[in-house]
Amino acid sequence: MSQGAIIDGAAFAAGLRGRVAEGVTAFRDRAGRAPGLAVVLVGEDPASQVYVRSKGKATVEAGMLSFEHKLPADTSQDDLLALVRQLNADATVDGILVQLPLPKQIDEQAVIEAIDPAKDVDGFHPVNAGRLASGLDSFVPCTPLGCLMLLKDRLGDLSGLDAVVIGRSNIVGKPMAQLLLRESCTVTIAHSRTRDLADVVRRADIVVAAVGRPRMVKGDWLKPGATVIDVGINRVDAGEGKTRLVGDVDFESALPLAGAITPVPKGVGPMTIAVLLRNTLVGACRRDGLDVPAGL
Ligand code: NDP
Repeated sequence: MSQGAIIDGAAFAAGLRGRVAEGVTAFRDRAGRAPGLAVVLVGEDPASQVYVRSKGKATVEAGMLSFEHKLPADTSQDDLLALVRQLNADATVDGILVQLPLPKQIDEQAVIEAIDPAKDVDGFHPVNAGRLASGLDSFVPCTPLGCLMLLKDRLGDLSGLDAVVIGRSNIVGKPMAQLLLRESCTVTIAHSRTRDLADVVRRADIVVAAVGRPRMVKGDWLKPGATVIDVGINRVDAGEGKTRLVGDVDFESALPLAGAITPVPKGVGPMTIAVLLRNTLVGACRRDGLDVPAGL
């Protein structure tokens, strides 16, 4: 395989969204209803507002129902939990997503655990995390599932490959490692206490960076030909009062050595919403006892 290929996550995500939209049409014909996704936003964090708006728009474009719940920043935990319970009981809602982070008066874990695991399209509920770790069917967090789709599209069978996941969050690193293990990779999970990270990365056929540190992974850390998935989204100073987005990997030095690499932006980012739509359709099929369409 040639070196230096750029993995077009935006194009793959557009294809997945198209397949979801076709699946939604088939679901509507059989179930006589549209799948529904409820997104809850508490407060006015600008980045969260952008994410919620994009998720709502993409949901409607896929032919699904979008229910947006915007609550003030001083919402109490009890009020948020009451809304989650109401959405759990609402037959028109197949997926519930509470946008994180939440204001400090609210215990995020309590909210995650209040969501019905059968509607937990973010895959953050401990039941879904445990099912993933046990090799059972579950909702899988959108970003790592999107990364896995890109890897399988590029490499096909991942069995026996050495994979390093940098980062051990519940949202990205840990589920990513579980997914790669499920594909029979030999998985190393690196984190802030890892000794000689460069040496660990140098052994890997697959590198997934989910750290949140701009351009931390350097090109000369890579095994030549490695496939690099850059999850990081970091806003850095671009001079003249402007900013730009960069990943956790130093793209310029990594590109000539990597077999393939995702850019930032237009790499992993667009996959997250596409997989959210996919998970919502899958949840709707499961709730109505219908087969999940092929190709998702
Ligand atoms: P967290 O902050 O929750 O986790 C970061 C992880 O990186 C931790 O496990 C931490 O280790 C590890 N880490 C920190 N510094 C180092 C270091 N110097 N060397 C090795 N490991 C280190 O972040 P998330 O997992 O939520 O997100 C990671 C990145 O991915 C962020 O840039 C985020 O914006 C982005 N992201 C992108 C998404 C997308 O759609 N593309 C979606 C979600 C996140 P320790 O546990 O020891 O502290």
